[in-house]
Amino acid sequence: SATDASTAEAFRVVANPNPATEAERAEKLSSLKFGVNFTDHMARMTWSMDEGWTDRRIEPYAPLQLDPASSVLHYASEIFEGLKAYKWADGTIRTFRPQANAERFQRSAWRMALPELPTEDFMASIRALVELEKDWVPTIPESSLYLRPFLIGTDVFLGLRQPMTVDYLLIASPSGPYFSGGVKPVSIWVEQEYHRAGPGGTGAAKCGGNYASSLRPQIEAGKRGYDQVLYLDAKTDTVLEELGGMNVFVVMKDGTVVTPVLTGNLLEGVTRASIIQLLEDDHLKVVERDITIKELRDGVASGDVAEVFACGTAAVVTPIGKMGSTDFEQQVGDGQPGPVTLKVRQTLTDIQYGRAEDTYGWMETI
Ligand code: PMP
Repeated sequence: SATDASTAEAFRVVANPNPATEAERAEKLSSLKFGVNFTDHMARMTWSMDEGWTDRRIEPYAPLQLDPASSVLHYASEIFEGLKAYKWADGTIRTFRPQANAERFQRSAWRMALPELPTEDFMASIRALVELEKDWVPTIPESSLYLRPFLIGTDVFLGLRQPMTVDYLLIASPSGPYFSGGVKPVSIWVEQEYHRAGPGGTGAAKCGGNYASSLRPQIEAGKRGYDQVLYLDAKTDTVLEELGGMNVFVVMKDGTVVTPVLTGNLLEGVTRASIIQLLEDDHLKVVERDITIKELRDGVASGDVAEVFACGTAAVVTPIGKMGSTDFEQQVGDGQPGPVTLKVRQTLTDIQYGRAEDTYGWMETI
């Protein structure tokens, strides 16, 4: 198929004439927040209905010039990905399962009527940019170079149609932990008014619109003192789906681990898939099935549910210490990170940072 074709040509480099000085870079790399600072360059490709993917290039990181009628600005023709590059103690730089992100990027593109970027081009853009920006990969604990590939519709047309021209961009941001508290448990608001996705909708696509619409519920939950929002299914309002930017796992007292089944309404997390594998290889039983909010509340109350955690590229594995909504508030276990949560977090990050052998072949060397 077109998406497998190895069409990647070299990325032509247009060097930034005014890159950050060594001192500026050192300053940015010593005070790492999430997603605030960016490297000197970005990777870019252009697509048109007539010519397909052309003009592979690395250019200075700079504001984009967009026609005000561009489709991304009106109809949210946009998808994105998120993955990290890690600098190992031996000086090599590795990314975590980038092919999985490339494939999800294609699925998101298909759903949003955007062109599918061949895996080879996705991989080549990452290699080209990270190789050039290798001095921007931070080395302090829990840090990484966060990579953000995205596609935007640049079609200059106010009619509603599939974009005829699209830009692919890849930017990179040296980042510290997503939650500044480290492995501190977070609280989740179980959302009973708003939904994130519905049957036949875009829940499984990583499109910007899903995240724009999550901000109102997130703000309201924040006003009530909660860190994150957990969404229920739109059809029955009873089944757990996911958080605004993370998948969720429930650890039962008997050691069974349960996570919502992929219904097409939630994002197929790369971290989720990896954690399922790690838990199974640690001889835990993992079940992908429906979990109702009633089952979760009853289980937390009786102690049958021992731990709840969320996971994703940005937040890695984050314990959930408290849940609440308009009609309840509960502490999960003793409110502290549980042993299964902490162990799987350690195992995963040991692989990502090269502290343990990568027996799965998940790490891709730049
Ligand atoms: N769900 C949503 C809605 C997300 O945005 C993310 C982050 N990409 C995840 C789950 C976790 O996915 P991943 O493990 O691939 O980062």
